[in-house]
Amino acid sequence: MAGIPLSCKDRTNRDGIIYTKNLGLSAMEIQFARGFISEEEAEEVKDVADKCDIELFAHAPYYINLTGDERNVEMSKEKIRKSMHLADIMGAKVVTIHTGFYGNLSKKKAMERMVKNLRSLRNEFKKEGIEVPMGIETMGKKEVFGSLDEIIEVCKRVHGVVPVIDVAHIHARGNGCLKEKEDFQKVFDSIQDLKLNHYLIHITGVKYDKGGEMYHVPIRKGDMPVIKLMECIVENDYNITIISESPILEHDAVYSQILLDRAMEMLK
Ligand SMILES: [Zn+2]
Repeated sequence: MAGIPLSCKDRTNRDGIIYTKNLGLSAMEIQFARGFISEEEAEEVKDVADKCDIELFAHAPYYINLTGDERNVEMSKEKIRKSMHLADIMGAKVVTIHTGFYGNLSKKKAMERMVKNLRSLRNEFKKEGIEVPMGIETMGKKEVFGSLDEIIEVCKRVHGVVPVIDVAHIHARGNGCLKEKEDFQKVFDSIQDLKLNHYLIHITGVKYDKGGEMYHVPIRKGDMPVIKLMECIVENDYNITIISESPILEHDAVYSQILLDRAMEMLK
């Protein structure tokens, strides 16, 4: 689940983790979108998550532009550094980061900047002994860097960076391209070269137009057949974590779990 459950009365990450556990879910993404937590809270979050056996992920602030001008890039790097530092304390498994805008750059030029900036960050973290991988997300709007192919290329070129597979974004960017189990299979097949032993997947319903993603909606209000994704996962026995980024956060997290269970039942 991405962030503190909506129906969790106490708006703290600590209670969010306990609530997540009580819903029978196994992972939570700590959001830095509305501000960073303190180092003390990061330590507390780690303790609670360990006790509840909840796997932690982190999401850096949304506005990141690693393809922008020098000032933009430096500001973005600073947000990523802070996110990585806290994620390291929390023992998070991946830090999800957004990419950047093409602006008036060619796609090729944007790619070069992305690779260069991620490499320099990766080298910094390596020196500091921070081992949490940076996860770059497939983005839903066509004006934003981050088609599935671009994300894969970056991961191939920058060792230690992993893809965050936001299936709703892929679906929206491709004008509703994920319809059948085979369509989801193609997504997994295309990242096979990266030889990952775990896939981080973001899920939500989504509305889109010719520019790609417009906004997130509950899974049942969107037209992406999530059950087909689950069938694909079960058939291949992929090691995955699914994070709900739906506007009805925990409801769709639980709904996704139900669909996954249903797919398992069907394929027994
Ligand atoms: Zn995101």
